[in-house]
Amino acid sequence: MAASRSAPLLPGQRSASHPQRAVTLGVMGGGQLGRMFVHAAQALGFRTAVLDADPTSPAGRVAHVHIQTPYLDADGLALLVDEADAVTTEFENVPADALRQLATRRPVAPGGDAVAVCQDRAAEKAHFRASGVPCAPFAVIDSEADLAGVLDDLLPGILKTARLGYDGKGQVRVTDRAALEAAWSELGRVTCVLEKRLALAAEVSVIVARGANGQVVQLPLQQNLHRDGILAVTTVPAACASPEQAAEAAACAQRIAASLDYVGVLCVEFFLLADGSQIDGALVANEMAPRPHNSGHYSIDACDVSQFELQVRCMAGLPLVTPRLHSPCVMLNLLGDLWFDTGGRERSPDWAAVLALPGTHLHLYGKTDARQGRKMGHLTVTAASAEAARQVALQAAAVLGIEPF
Ligand code: ATP
Ligand code: MG
Repeated sequence: MAASRSAPLLPGQRSASHPQRAVTLGVMGGGQLGRMFVHAAQALGFRTAVLDADPTSPAGRVAHVHIQTPYLDADGLALLVDEADAVTTEFENVPADALRQLATRRPVAPGGDAVAVCQDRAAEKAHFRASGVPCAPFAVIDSEADLAGVLDDLLPGILKTARLGYDGKGQVRVTDRAALEAAWSELGRVTCVLEKRLALAAEVSVIVARGANGQVVQLPLQQNLHRDGILAVTTVPAACASPEQAAEAAACAQRIAASLDYVGVLCVEFFLLADGSQIDGALVANEMAPRPHNSGHYSIDACDVSQFELQVRCMAGLPLVTPRLHSPCVMLNLLGDLWFDTGGRERSPDWAAVLALPGTHLHLYGKTDARQGRKMGHLTVTAASAEAARQVALQAAAVLGIEPF
């Protein structure tokens, strides 16, 4: 039996189950998404608890309570039930079973079953199709026979591990059958999805938030630029998409959320196909994330309600309102690469020069160890016009050593 709740959890109140403490929101995972969730929850007046084994985790460092155990540790989960009145997740690879166990004692949003679909690319694509949302042609590769049966039409393609991929990891681009066979071996012959490589005009994503009562609100469409498989730049409004495409993306995300009976913030990434390569229309779903998403970080500074506040509201059963974009903006991801000069020597990025530019909002996640490709923070530039935001973002990029976009 899943724990359910009819009355909303109000910030600053005493917990119904533990009157000695204030109402507390718990989060599985202690990364930067958890940290920004904790910031939003605390701003509203909630007490917060994070479960993450890493004593230096970005979210653990700012939460009221940090439970330092693995996700499936029985004592850790019991402690979280004790400390939190509702639980969410900030990381899609938290074992779905941990969420299911928690759900017997506390409202959990999103639920383990919905998260499990997002953890497996094959299940995710099947769910897109079942929801009437187009995705790239694909085949599941689980055996030699699957490999031999691949249709020529899927090549050139991208072989992706079905589970545990992120930031372009666990992916190999293949042009022919020999390369496909080598790639499957390279990936350890685990279950994979082979996707046809599509000619992309642009990439966009949309974030929806769905309450337990089925109410849905959405953020404006985001335009995303990836470099080496990692999100580099997000621009809002998304100039690449028509209003009809933006509405279609939101409608797709809403259908996906509704058919999962989803509660919480959900991000769906889409490809806008280049002319002449259309498959069931120009908008094709790539993947989804059962949580706030890197492409939604701009909402902290450019919207009147952020994706993290939406997550708080969803899990607490509080009213949802449609966020308003009050400023056009550009978000730059700050990867660990920026902490090294061209000779590979460590350096400190010139934050003073960045903050001297108008409309810059710096977010560093408190990670002490800079590594190539590691997400250390992000910078959102807000301005009165999209062009002004872009110009300042380009100046900030030049200061930091980020390639122009
Ligand atoms: P994330 O960090 O978003 O979870 P990921 O590792 O799961 O990333 P994908 O989103 O599947 O990876 O792919 C990363 C990027 O690779 C995409 O944003 C896109 O630029 C490119 N890409 C992926 N699949 C395709 C495809 N079928 N055709 C063309 N480009 C693709
Ligand atoms: Mg992606």
